[in-house]
Amino acid sequence: MSRILKHCPFCAGKARLIDNAYNVVGWNVSYYSAYVQCTSCGAKGREIKLTECYGPPDGTVDDAIDAWNMRIDCCSFKVSAAGLVDI
Ligand SMILES: [Zn+2]
Repeated sequence: MSRILKHCPFCAGKARLIDNAYNVVGWNVSYYSAYVQCTSCGAKGREIKLTECYGPPDGTVDDAIDAWNMRIDCCSFKVSAAGLVDI
């Protein structure tokens, strides 16, 4: 089954799924992960650990796609010395 990837929320570039990225975290310890990344600006969605490593997997490839495709259109913030303020 194929899934639709939304365009990048920052630059509207095309996104691609990085599936089964191999990650080495230490001596004889590694895991596979998946995430979605913009091919234009490099923005990256949440990386989902697919295999057990220091705990159970985070989820599946579908979870990585869902994380990228999630959009919230309700909030804006401005940065000030005191921190983030709603506008
Ligand atoms: Zn982008």
